[in-house]
Amino acid sequence: MTDLIADIAINAPLKQLYSYRVDAAHGALLQVGMRVRVPFGRRTTIGFVIKLSQGEGKGLKAVKELLDEEPLLPAELLKLLRWAADYYFFPFGQVIRNALPGGLGSEKSTTSILSEPVYRVQDASIGLRGERQRNLRDFILTAESASLSKIKELFPEPHATLKRLVELGSLAVHEEERLRDPFLREEIPADKQPQLNAAQQEAVAAITGQLNQAAFHGFLLHGVTGSGKTEVYLHTVRHCLEQGRQALILVPEISLTPQLVARFRARFEQQGKTIVALHSGMSAGERYDAWRQIMRHQVQIVIGARSAVFAPLGDLGLIIVDEEHDASYKQSEGFRYNARDLALVRGQQQNCPVVLGSATPSFASYYRSEQGALTRLTLERRVHDEALPVVTLIDLKEEKSDLALAPSLIEAIQQALEQREQALVLLNRRGFAPFLLCPDCGSSFHCPNCEITLTYHKGEGRLRCHYCDYVATIPETCPHCRGINLQPQGAGTERLEQELEELFPGARIARMDRDTTGRKGAHRKIIGEMLAGKIDILVGTQMIAKGHDFPGVAVVGVLGADSILNFPDFRSAERSFALLTQVAGRAGRAKGGGRVFIQSYHPEHYALVCAAGQDYADFYRQELPFRQELGYPPCGHLVNMVFSGNNLAQVRGVAERVGEDLSRFATAVDVLGPSPCALSRLRGKSRFQILLKAAERGPLRQLLLRFAEKLNQLPKQVALAIDVDPVDML
Ligand code: ADP
Ligand code: ZN
Repeated sequence: MTDLIADIAINAPLKQLYSYRVDAAHGALLQVGMRVRVPFGRRTTIGFVIKLSQGEGKGLKAVKELLDEEPLLPAELLKLLRWAADYYFFPFGQVIRNALPGGLGSEKSTTSILSEPVYRVQDASIGLRGERQRNLRDFILTAESASLSKIKELFPEPHATLKRLVELGSLAVHEEERLRDPFLREEIPADKQPQLNAAQQEAVAAITGQLNQAAFHGFLLHGVTGSGKTEVYLHTVRHCLEQGRQALILVPEISLTPQLVARFRARFEQQGKTIVALHSGMSAGERYDAWRQIMRHQVQIVIGARSAVFAPLGDLGLIIVDEEHDASYKQSEGFRYNARDLALVRGQQQNCPVVLGSATPSFASYYRSEQGALTRLTLERRVHDEALPVVTLIDLKEEKSDLALAPSLIEAIQQALEQREQALVLLNRRGFAPFLLCPDCGSSFHCPNCEITLTYHKGEGRLRCHYCDYVATIPETCPHCRGINLQPQGAGTERLEQELEELFPGARIARMDRDTTGRKGAHRKIIGEMLAGKIDILVGTQMIAKGHDFPGVAVVGVLGADSILNFPDFRSAERSFALLTQVAGRAGRAKGGGRVFIQSYHPEHYALVCAAGQDYADFYRQELPFRQELGYPPCGHLVNMVFSGNNLAQVRGVAERVGEDLSRFATAVDVLGPSPCALSRLRGKSRFQILLKAAERGPLRQLLLRFAEKLNQLPKQVALAIDVDPVDML
């Protein structure tokens, strides 16, 4: 006799699937994609059913408990997750857990399905006393059935009346599943439906052409801010929905892009389409509800950040990745996937076009469009033909200043204020000053857990580590020499804000960075005030360069461009170019064109010059030889292996041993290191890295596969993270 066998991915740091026997009672209900509880070693754990088959069950342990009534993972998604587990060398069970909304894959799942009473009229002929009873009954009669929350919207405190009507036999009541709605109480703007211009029409035609064939095709939609990319998304999504398929839109961070979500809702909700947003501000319960709705094909459009690439859409017709260059698409811890790359894989697997959109495409995507792997669609001009901003590079070697702001930038802000226009100043460093220095003995303050100086936060009166959040009070004297002249060095947004207040008394100044937007809604409030003209000068980190149009901004200043440029990473020029181009794009919508000032000691650097000219093609041309020569992505492939642990000598020893082994067997792969990471200590752990570099992916994978077993057997005290296609290599 054969048994039903389930192959199960277990939420443990192991790669393989495990086989379990399924007894008849469970077998009748069990489906692929459900969660089960299974014995594992001496305990039980949660697993995901990946495959069901008939076979010999003797000697296998049995599935203990079924946790779902319907599958959580459609077959299409399991295929993608399987691919990702292999590609990123990450355990399948944990990949699944990462994909699911919070809580569902963990041992103590806290998310539950909510339900609420729903009322129907059982006997309309029963005579009722009182207007309230009759009104309530008539409302329910017209609506056919009504949930308690619906009733409450019209009849405050309806409980007693409802209870009475049920007792009388007038109404019947039963429990129904209730979905949590995270959109409640949000405003939707009126939908403008502009006629597309020629460039937009061409882009839409190219994409819908592939949509009609239900074929995979990768597009790069390159267009400056305001060139009408979002309008292209809206049109192609409509086309996708008309074919009865679902659309997935990825954005870097949904709380930073409420305008985009609002525009999709404005366009599609009136047509009866259901849009679901997946984002970190949602509770686990809200996400669980959204997930089930998507699974059941009750949703046509999903908009979400990185992890939404795993939304359980079974009938996907189109994927859009907005701001595709954004580094946040790469998860930098644990399961280190890149949602932009997985979007392309998913498009291939589910036969649908994928559109990567950006004003400043990632170097990799642009390279692929040059190679023909992606079709590039370009929107050259802004829709309303506003002038592009005039960008000035301020040479700090010439324009010396004791202040953070150079004189010509101060003057430009002054002029803007006089004309009642707004200014935006970007400095990508929060806090008052990056460190506190004792000029008498030269010592500064370091995080005890990390190899990094502590940032001085003046308002808060603390020194803070920006990596591990270690905090210390500010000492009055230097702990080394007892000197009393401790001085903050350099400037962060907090100091800049103070400087602006001193320079422009009376101006309304606000700051937007992680310190001022911690509370829910704080970010949106600042943006609202900016749009309403209640702020004259907005200071902030890169947050202010993202997603938002501020039509009243006439002057944009950029400080600290050099620290981005000098970042120890081969992508530093690319990042500088993108950030500067994006922030420059925030200006110039104002009548008369905006002005942008970038302060730097290296104003001749091509990343700055090209950003000033808003010239992507030129930047690409100058960056390419550098990547080619060094074999850096996209002209080569990288895998970063990071070893970490409490004991420095042990971590180094393990890294060295692995490094020797790898070098011995490596063919067509460069094994670089081990060497201490740029952040050689982080959160109390010592860190070493080995960088693997190869012209082709194949040999790199083979080398890692060959070592996969061994790498699982490192001493417990040393953790190894394998980062395929790393983005952050500190
Ligand atoms: P992007 O996404 O590239 O920044 P948007 O699609 O948001 O550009 O377009 C910028 C503005 O121009 C929006 O307010 C949009 O409604 C409007 N717009 C887009 N396309 C057109 C068009 N063809 N005609 C008129 N207005 C348009
Ligand atoms: Zn620290």
